[in-house]
Amino acid sequence: MLKIGSVRWRGKCPRHPSFDPYADGRGAIKGACAKCTALADIHETHQRMVGLMRTFAPPQPARKKPVPVLDRQENLFSDE
Ligand SMILES: [Zn+2]
Repeated sequence: MLKIGSVRWRGKCPRHPSFDPYADGRGAIKGACAKCTALADIHETHQRMVGLMRTFAPPQPARKKPVPVLDRQENLFSDE
């Protein structure tokens, strides 16, 4: 069995802080910057990992909780 906890991670290139591998892609890497290249590698590896996980076990559709039916209407015809 493999367990992977949720991971929150942030990385930013100190020379190109606005570079976003998700939005910009590798084509936006300036001067073969090693940090930006590493961010693009991390992004692609993460995308691949998520794809592998979804292939292994597709996400289950969210279960809808049954909405409790409340009988809140007052009974106007009884003394109880
Ligand atoms: Zn950079």
